[in-house]
Formats: sequence, structure tokens, C-alpha cells
Amino acid sequence: MANLHFHYGVMGAAKTAQLLTTAFNLMQTGKRVEIIKPQRDDRFSDNEIVSRIGLRMPALSLKNFDSYIPKPDTQFILIDEVQFFSSGDVDKLARIINYSKVIIMGYGLMTDSNEHLFPASQRLIEVGAKLHLIEANCQIDGCMNLATHNARFDANGHIITNGPQIAVGADRYRSVCRMHFEKFKCGMLLNQITK
Ligand SMILES: [Zn+2]
Repeated sequence: MANLHFHYGVMGAAKTAQLLTTAFNLMQTGKRVEIIKPQRDDRFSDNEIVSRIGLRMPALSLKNFDSYIPKPDTQFILIDEVQFFSSGDVDKLARIINYSKVIIMGYGLMTDSNEHLFPASQRLIEVGAKLHLIEANCQIDGCMNLATHNARFDANGHIITNGPQIAVGADRYRSVCRMHFEKFKCGMLLNQITK
């Protein structure tokens, strides 16, 4: 069985809910699980992770994996928003599983709103993580295509494709299919087709 997994999907694909469900099922069968999240993610709480549908569990909040050592009896490490760690952190995770029986499952985004891989996501592929796509439909009304892109829009509905990789603020996001991403790049406004 693979010992390093990357469960990836667009924003709103219920990645955190899947992480919490997996953690719950593992704990139900007596497995010892650590849940970790990047410290910068304080949308809801700094010592727990909360999914949009309301599930929540305690989590260890880390800036990086420099001084992290799993507890001696830990069997599974589940990491939320793994794309916000560095590629060096992924190397440290790979080293942990090279020398232990721990299984690591990262959950997060593959690409940013500029269509570029996050460094940690790229590194997970490079070091041989088993990839699992968490599917979601395009969020444009009436479109049933697979959502493949995290599109960022300014207040006027123009797509932003050269912004900072990690941005907080008033920008709006939609998870969209490739076709709609291209249409927005060609000048279609978000306001024209959705509220
Ligand atoms: Zn679409």
C-alpha cells in the first residue's frame, strides 16, 4: 500500500470534509491519527479544522515541519491545505515515511488561480505520492463539466490570472471547467453568467 497520498481537488470540492470523514473512520477502528494544518489558515479556528458543511476536529497547527516529529504511536498523519506548506516540507514528510510505518495523506489544491502548480503539490508528485482526484462540477450555472480550475475574479467580475499565488481579501473564487476558464480569459465577465 502506498504510504504517501495526495487527495487533490478544486476549491469547494469538500476536501476537508473528506479528510475529517477519513479521520473519523480510522479512529473508529482504533487507528491513531494526527491531523495537521498550516498555521496561516485561521479562517475558522487555529487549533481545529472545520469543513464548510460543519464537521470539525482538533488539529495541530504548524508553520512548517522543521521540528515536527510524529508521536511514537501515530499510524496516520492527515494534512489539510497541504499546498500551503513548502516543497522542503514535503521532503521532510517523505523522510518520515521512509523511516517509519506511518501513512501520510495530504489534502489540498493542485493548482493556483494562475494555472500553476503549488510548490508543495508539485513536490508531492515528484516524490511519488499516490494521486487521488476529488471531483467537483463546474460552478457555473447549468454546466456539468468537471471543475479543473480555481478561477479568481476582481470586484467587477474580471478574471485574474496573474495575481499572487496566495491571496486573501475581497477577490471572489469559482471552481470552473477548462472551457469556462478560457471564456473568462477571453473577456467574459463572471457577472454575465452567474450571481
Ligand atoms: Zn463549465
